[in-house]
Amino acid sequence: MLTESIYLTDSYAKEMDAKVMVVEKESDQKYKVILDKTVFYPIGGGQPTDQGYLAYGGNKAEIYLVIIKDGEIWHHIKTDNPPVVGDVVHGTIDWERRYKNMRLHSGGHVIDFAMYLLGYSPKTLQPLKGDHGKKPYIAYQGTIEQDIRQRLEDKSNELVTNELKFSCEFKTLDEVRKSAIYVQPGLPTNKSLRMLKLEGVGAVADGGTQVANTKEVGRIQITSVEKKGDQTIVSYLLG
Ligand SMILES: [Zn+2]
Repeated sequence: MLTESIYLTDSYAKEMDAKVMVVEKESDQKYKVILDKTVFYPIGGGQPTDQGYLAYGGNKAEIYLVIIKDGEIWHHIKTDNPPVVGDVVHGTIDWERRYKNMRLHSGGHVIDFAMYLLGYSPKTLQPLKGDHGKKPYIAYQGTIEQDIRQRLEDKSNELVTNELKFSCEFKTLDEVRKSAIYVQPGLPTNKSLRMLKLEGVGAVADGGTQVANTKEVGRIQITSVEKKGDQTIVSYLLG
């Protein structure tokens, strides 16, 4: 990969100077660029794309999509005057959008840690995936008979009220296997993995952006815990 992913080590970095490595034209006024580093989170892992601006030589191009394709991070921009390879550009994130997405994503993990503390995950309910966009939910393989909505909401909010720290560190897959509360299938074996740790609770492998403390997530509302075939879907909202 040509790009250093600043968002992996610093979820609070809002801007960066970067060098343009590749520019490709997509259509009129639409281009995609690869930069040598970026604070922009590419859509994935249930977290929406970052958006924002690239500024260079008096131009300001809107970044409307950031996506990993063929192993590279592409910034899709709208402009009449695209940058050229070698230009130094200044990128600025739409922080309001990112921070909301970041809180929703960390909120999903708070619920997942609460599921673990309640004893359901990963034994009876195996974490499958999450979506932290417009209709946030997390999905588990497996079902249970009890109605756990209220208990899950209370446990999640206990973790928020206790103002616990989130921290991240890079580990090998073997180290993740030893210390994570579960290891999701399909993790890459050939590179170091980022592990998300919740103070006093546990750790999971995760590559998304995260708030530094559960208090930033704010009040969590579990809107439903539903059976869907052989899966359990936990839907939630913040605030
Ligand atoms: Zn995550």
